[in-house]
Amino acid sequence: MPAIIIIIVVIIIIIIIIIIIIIIIKCYATKILNTETDSKCRLCQQFDETIEHIISTCPILAKEKYIKRHDRVCAQLHFNICKETGVQ
Ligand SMILES: [Zn+2]
Repeated sequence: MPAIIIIIVVIIIIIIIIIIIIIIIKCYATKILNTETDSKCRLCQQFDETIEHIISTCPILAKEKYIKRHDRVCAQLHFNICKETGVQ
C-alpha cells in the first residue's frame, strides 16, 4: 500500500478518535459531573449528542460529511480491487 494512503488513513483515524474523545468528555460532563446543562448536539441542536448521532444521524453532517466519508471509502475499495486484479 502506498505511503500516502497509509498517512491519509492514519489521519482519518486520528480525527475520528479526537471526535469520539470530545463526545465522551461532553457526555461525562453532562451525565456524571452535571456541569453541562445542554446535552443537545452542538451542530443541529435537535438531538442528544451521542456517538451514534455524530457518526450516522446528525442532519447537519448528513448534508456533506457523510457523503464525503462514503465516497472516500468507495474510492479506497476501488483502488484495492484494481490493485488486486491488476487493472490499471
Ligand atoms: Zn446533530
